[in-house]
This record gives sequence, C-alpha cells and structure tokens, in this order.
Amino acid sequence: MKRQEITVNGLTIELCGETLELATLRRAANPGVAAWVNNPAPASMWSVQLVDAEGRRAELTSAKAAKADVSVASSGVATLVWRDVRGQDARDASATAAVDVMVTVAPGDVTGQAMWRIRVDNRAPAWTLWQVVFPTLAVVPGGDGSADEFYYPDGWGRRFKGLANMTDLHRRASRGWDWGMQLVAYVRPDGLLTLATLDESCSPKSFHLVRRDLDPADAPADTIAAKRVELSVTHFPEDMTVGGNSFSSPYPVAVAAVDGDWFDACQLYARWARRQPWAVTPAHAPLPKPPAAGRVAREVHCWHVLQVPDKPVETHLAQLQKLADALDIDLAAQVYNWHQVPFDVSYPDYFPVRPETLPVLTGLRRLGIRSLPYINGRLWDINAPSWTDRQAERFCVHYSAQRVNPRTLFPYLEEYGSGQKLSPMCPATDFWRATVVDLCRRIVGELGCDGVYIDQIAAEKAELCFSRDHGHAPGGGRFWLDGYRKLLREIRQAVGPDVLLTTECNWEACLADYDALLSWAWFVPDAEVPMFPAVYAGLGQSFGCVWSKEDVQRNDGRVFAHKMARLLVWGAQLGWGDLTLLLDQPRRPLLDFMRRLCALRRQHVSTFALGRMLRPPTVTDDTAAPAEPPVQAGLWQTPDGDARQLFVVNPSPLPRRAMLRFDNQSLLVELSSLHAEVWAV
Ligand SMILES: [Zn+2]
Repeated sequence: MKRQEITVNGLTIELCGETLELATLRRAANPGVAAWVNNPAPASMWSVQLVDAEGRRAELTSAKAAKADVSVASSGVATLVWRDVRGQDARDASATAAVDVMVTVAPGDVTGQAMWRIRVDNRAPAWTLWQVVFPTLAVVPGGDGSADEFYYPDGWGRRFKGLANMTDLHRRASRGWDWGMQLVAYVRPDGLLTLATLDESCSPKSFHLVRRDLDPADAPADTIAAKRVELSVTHFPEDMTVGGNSFSSPYPVAVAAVDGDWFDACQLYARWARRQPWAVTPAHAPLPKPPAAGRVAREVHCWHVLQVPDKPVETHLAQLQKLADALDIDLAAQVYNWHQVPFDVSYPDYFPVRPETLPVLTGLRRLGIRSLPYINGRLWDINAPSWTDRQAERFCVHYSAQRVNPRTLFPYLEEYGSGQKLSPMCPATDFWRATVVDLCRRIVGELGCDGVYIDQIAAEKAELCFSRDHGHAPGGGRFWLDGYRKLLREIRQAVGPDVLLTTECNWEACLADYDALLSWAWFVPDAEVPMFPAVYAGLGQSFGCVWSKEDVQRNDGRVFAHKMARLLVWGAQLGWGDLTLLLDQPRRPLLDFMRRLCALRRQHVSTFALGRMLRPPTVTDDTAAPAEPPVQAGLWQTPDGDARQLFVVNPSPLPRRAMLRFDNQSLLVELSSLHAEVWAV
C-alpha cells in the first residue's frame, strides 16, 4: 500500500493508501523512541456523524473519500484534504450525507508539538453535523505496558499505573467534577505523549480513552504488545439540529511527543493555560485584576461547614468562639440549610430564611467569622412554585433527539437524593442570570453575609442546549462559559468587589472569577496527582475536602490529618466540614495539629496565593507501618521567584523519618508526631 510521510516540528506522521489513513506517528530523528502510533491496519484519524430529519444516521471516515491530497507549505504547515466523503444510514440507503474535510497540522511551541485542526464542510442541506471525532490516536504501550502511566484531569489529577489498570474513560469536558482541564498525558519509560485541546471558549467536547487490544495475528512484528489505548476527542459543532451546518475548529488539538513525565506535561499545558482570560482576568473587568496584596488579603486559611440549625444557636456560637480562639486565624463558614425549603428541594425559592438563620449570621459577624451561604448556581426544581409562576421552563437547558428540526425539545432532569427533579438552567439567558444575581444581592444585602457559595457552576459540564430562543446557536459553542462569565460580571456589579464568591470543583475557567474552588470530593491517595496546582498555582485557589466524623474520631484521626496535610502541601485552603468536632477533649492533638497547619499557611500565604508549585518531592518513609498516613511534602517557589520552600508534614501520631528527593538533592528529615515544617531549599 502506498505510504508517504510528513514531518511537522519534529513529529512525523506516516499516511497510507489513497485516502490517507494514519499509519504511524513518531518523533522524528529519535531512533531510540518507539512510535507512539503504529496501526497495523489503516485507521482514519477522524470520523464524523450526521443525522437527517428522519433520524437516519451516517458515520463517515476518511476511507469513504473520493479523493485525498496532502501537502506541506514552506511555513511547515501540513494540509490534508479529503473530498466528497459520502455515506448512508446503514439501515436505510435512500439518502446520502456528503462532506469535505480538511486537517491542518501546524508547528507548536516546542519541538515535538504540533497543532491539529479540522474543518468539516457539510455539503448536504438535509443533514445536520452532530459530532466530529478528531484526532484518533491508538497509542502503542512501552514494552508490556507495565511501566506506563496515564494522567487525566479528574479533580486534582488522576493516574492509572500500568497498562493493565487503564480502564475506558468517556468524559465530557470541561467539568470540574471529573475533567477540570483540557489535557491528558500518556507516559512511557521513553517519553511522553500529551493531547490537549487549547480551547479558550471551553466549548462542549468529550475526551476518550478506550482499550483497543489487537488480535495478536495483526500485531506488527516490531512491537511486543498487541495492546493499544485509543485517545480521541469528540467535538460538538454549533447549529446541531440545523440542516447543512459545518464545523471549523476554532481551537487546535495540541499533540506533543517529547521527553518528560506528568509534571512536564502540565508545564507544557501551562504555557498556554496560564495566559487565558479566565485564568488571569476576572469577569468584572475593566476593573483591574486585584493587585497581589489584594489577592493575599482575600485568602481564607480555614473553612468550617455550618448547618442551620443542627443545634441551638447559642451552642453554635459558643463552639465557634472556642474554635476561633483555638485555631487563632481568620475562619470562614460555608452555611447550609439557612433557607426554609429542604436541601435540594424547591430551588431557587430559598427565601424566606429559617428563624434561626439571622441570629446565627449575626453571631458569626460578631466573632469575625466570614459567612458564605450555599445556593445552587444551575438548578431549578420543576415542582417549585416559581417554576410555573415564572414560566421558568422557557429558560432551562433544552435537549433534543438526534435529528434535523426536531418537533419536541425537553428539559433534562437531575436528581440528588432529595427525590426531587431539578432542571439545569441555561446561563445564556438573562432570566437565569438575573435570578442568581438577585439571590446574591439578597444574601449580601438583606442577610449581611460576606459572600456566597454558588454550587455546581464549576462542577458541571457545559451542556448542549438546543433552544432556538436563548440567543445562542443550538448545540455546541462558547455560550456556556460566556454566560457564566457574564453572570459573574453581573453579580459583582450587584454586590461589589469585596464580597467572597466560591464555587464547586476545579474547573480551570472559573479561576479568575472566584475567590476559591471547593475541592471537596477527591481523596484517593494512591491515584491522585496534583496536576491542577502544577498548572495553575498562583493564579487561583482551591479549598477544603470532604471528611467525616469517623475520619476525626477513629484511629486517632489519622485520615483527617492525612487529608489536611495533603491540602497544605498542595496549596489549598484548609478545613471544610464541621471543625467543632476537634473541640472534644480526646481530639486535642488533632486540634493542635490543625492550629499548626493554619499558622504555617498564614505565615506563607503569599507563596500559596501567588507562588508556583514545583515538581513534588518523592518521599520514602522508612519508619512507618503500612497503615500509617505517609509524610506529605510540597516544593514551592516564592512569588518573586527568588526562593524555594519545602513544606513537610507528618500526619501520623507517631514520630517519622523520611527521605525526600527533589532535583538532585536528597534530604533525610525527622519529624515529631503530627508536625509540620518548612525549609528554604
Ligand atoms: Zn440555551
């Protein structure tokens, strides 16, 4: 079969056949590095799906092109064109979909990185382009794959260790709950392959990791394994449901084959990510970005979760007084159940408040504890009185079956354990934004609170909304993030610049707009990696993690101490949860530990607010029993870039000795029980 090669910026792509299937992808002039893609059978680097008004579907790939060409311009940009790609529904061949496809591969920022873009021109007005999958790269493992690792941006960042442990992932992006950034990294002993969508608009898309084990008979002789993991990205165009829509990717997919590991993958991504408007410029611009001193002043060191009214008001306030005295730092409280409606019921009809709420909030103010009541930033209960009174259904996200000009759109409904049906609302609508703005205005103005916790905005994905009445194109596009950024601008106009605003989970696009992102959900010590702070430390802030009464009360509170230690070395604000549990006399060592962590964080707050996280040290603990929480270590660069600080925490109630390795240094540290230290290194 005819084969031809193109090389773009150190990345060699081998194409085969008349229709330019992807054969191999490898680093140019690196004979010691095996190919990253080595397809034994022709494989299309893209696929597109179209549907028509009768619900017929056509799946098109490069194999169905009438003609294909490739050329490389003097600029180094390669252009691949497939013309007249045709196909029918497999069950009904009475209509034909037809597209032309163009892929460009342009040099990236570093040798080995290339920017891939796709354009799909839909030539059949009776068909609507529903999705574009591009690129599809079947990655060859290193040897038997046992030393390979795969990294993905779930929470702090997650890792599969070993090919055998890599399971299929299909994740919608961006979604702080489990896909807060736009990159993945496959690490082999001989290098690193990263795939990232550099999409400032954060349009809806999906990332996929799929096991594609070959029949051993088909495995090429020059590789040991017949196993593959296929990486791909699904893009959702604008004007889905509109016949004849096309897609021209407004953002590149950056593919890089370079030396390095997960931290290097994060730094490469950071070169782009740390320049994005949502990372550096709050939505309420043209107000200038808060000066550094302002950002440090806005830091909260420790968070408490307060449930109104799980105990008498006087008990709340007496315990909080003791807590504030014991921790001796500025506390903030995230306030739940301040409203008369039950949790996750009748949103957004939060007012009127419970009778206990105002005395609790007044008491918090007196104690100097900042209060941020909970609201949900995206859900409306379809049985709330206001759903019908205000005809809210007009402004909820409208879903559609896959077809051209569907007759019926429908609200999507979610459940969260309250037994109620809650509908996500479209942030492109003035109606929904005005609803959230009014809640924030009342919480700050009527209740006198210091801020608002706006749930789910960073946690949940940009939805495909098919309404034709919301002022945005149906389907994909940038309206979701644009709507949320406009919402933040409108909230700031209503409540002023000093009010604290927080939201749920690590979605990169909320970094500049919110004072902190609640990292509550994740604690899987062996699988989690601090990818998010490795990219974004110094530009935004995370806070807290979920912990239970048992974490504090069982086994001398080892789990609680482990969680807090990790928050500190990864730069997050501490706490979140009912900290008054620490006031019980048997918990005194934990309370003292928490006080030490808070003091250390306050002392070095400018580093955590404005500095950079450096490659974390490796920790070898030679004193601990396997059940002991391991020593935690983080290496940070100060904001001026002149100094490095090593934070080390022993979360165990036993003394510990551990070897820390970073750069080319080794450091043996001995730590007393429940202890934290910082060294300049
Ligand atoms: Zn909409």
